[in-house]
Amino acid sequence: MTYDVAVVGSGFSAIALTINLLRVLPPTASIAVVGDDPGFGRGTAYRTEFYLHRLNVPAARMSVFPDRPDDFVEWLRGQGKAVFAEDFASRGDYGLYLRDTLASLLRPRERRARVDFIRAKATSCVQCEKDGLVFCLDNTDELKARNIVLALGVGSADLPLPKNCVEPAATPRIIDNPWRLGWLSRVGRTDEICIFGSGLTMIDQVLSMRAQGHRGRIHVLSRRGLVPHPHPKRRSAPVATEMPENRDMSSILQALRRQVENGADWRGVVDGLRPQTQALWQSLGKEQRSRFLRHALAWWNIHRHRIAPEVFSRFDTLLKDGTVTVHAGFLKSIKAADDGTDVQFRKRGTQEVAALHADWVVNCTGMERAGIGHSPLLQAMRDRGMIAMDELGLGISVDAQSRVLDPAGVPHPGLYASGALTAGQFWEITAVPDIRIQASKLAETISKDIARSAPPVARIA
Ligand SMILES: Cc1cc2nc3c(=O)[nH]c(=O)nc-3n(C[C@H](O)[C@H](O)[C@H](O)COP(=O)(O)OP(=O)(O)OC[C@H]3O[C@@H](n4cnc5c(N)ncnc54)[C@H](O)[C@@H]3O)c2cc1C
Repeated sequence: MTYDVAVVGSGFSAIALTINLLRVLPPTASIAVVGDDPGFGRGTAYRTEFYLHRLNVPAARMSVFPDRPDDFVEWLRGQGKAVFAEDFASRGDYGLYLRDTLASLLRPRERRARVDFIRAKATSCVQCEKDGLVFCLDNTDELKARNIVLALGVGSADLPLPKNCVEPAATPRIIDNPWRLGWLSRVGRTDEICIFGSGLTMIDQVLSMRAQGHRGRIHVLSRRGLVPHPHPKRRSAPVATEMPENRDMSSILQALRRQVENGADWRGVVDGLRPQTQALWQSLGKEQRSRFLRHALAWWNIHRHRIAPEVFSRFDTLLKDGTVTVHAGFLKSIKAADDGTDVQFRKRGTQEVAALHADWVVNCTGMERAGIGHSPLLQAMRDRGMIAMDELGLGISVDAQSRVLDPAGVPHPGLYASGALTAGQFWEITAVPDIRIQASKLAETISKDIARSAPPVARIA
């Protein structure tokens, strides 16, 4: 059969889109959701069951429906949780909320579009002779669809540390993918740990280790040694920013700084930017965007992607009592030692080389940009000239309606993308508050396309 829509992916983007499609498509329509993740909708972010793995967005802003902002808070209360709109719920609960929301829309079978969940990885894709695309799946099946949405996230493959820095004999002591939580059981109670990357993933892993009884020292190394800021206990109101006429990075940053110098809370200033971040990004030329990525990204990340106050306070205690030390520097080498590894790094801003011993090295540098390197499917589509990377290599080229563009900049009929893959066009498109809006718009666009192309009889029916 040929599906009306195939959604490829099994994280939040795929499920948010499926939920929105179920709301707008007629019962005659058919949807295939192709994902290789056993927990459809959870992805890396929401499959955790550890209670300190919290959302970094307040519950009131995590509803999957942009037009029903209280939905997640109401679901939590329905589960007997005494929760306030500004609370930071656990990511595990959020995964369950997505599962329940989808299940409730799937229940009235006769009044909704058909949905088939196919547990497989899409490995390549070709254009059909008539219309639509055919996907090859890793279970040797093929899948045909008229509309396709690529919702592949940033990939969860292992991220090797630079090969020229790592002595091969040291690799058994290096954890390249900390999201396979099994690695924690190999860590001894007093083992010394060296973590690369000082962002949200690092904090998740440190708190997981503590919860499992680890009491050894933890060194954290990143280029700038910057750690995410916490959300305040009481949220300050967003402050609208008056954008300078000159749309260059220096003028924009100056305008923001001036607001803070004039007494505005910096968190309110950063939050006030949020509704206009996508438009602001789109108004910048390539040169200004790449300046932002080169010089401001690390600062943006720690101010913009803040963590729940309770999570920060637990991490801060470990910083203050000396359990965790954060270093700013550049990795030089990881060598095997009798009982672990010896790590050398150059301290930022100096030529001084520092050395430390670690029983385990954990790579928490994470994937910030999707690119296409993580996905054989995207590489195959690129090789066939169906997709192109955006000009900064953040993801793939899409237009403002999330339609995938070929290398000549022409939209491929019926082919869309969502989530981090579309960061080149939207930049701020990796978190729920933005993806849910994209999902709702995509569902509307696809439902109109399906209505337009339906044969007259079906339309009357
Ligand atoms: C640890 C963590 C915590 C986060 N916390 C928050 C938060 O609190 N609030 C917030 O708003 N955002 C948060 N985020 C951001 C988060 O990325 C988004 O909220 C959302 O989960 C992104 O979903 P996605 O579907 O786009 O990507 P992913 O979750 O990465 O899902 C993509 C899925 O597609 C599958 N896939 C890829 N290629 C194929 C293929 N070829 N065939 C089939 N399937 C394929 C993958 O296996 C994966 O399951 C967090 C992210 C992480 C990693």
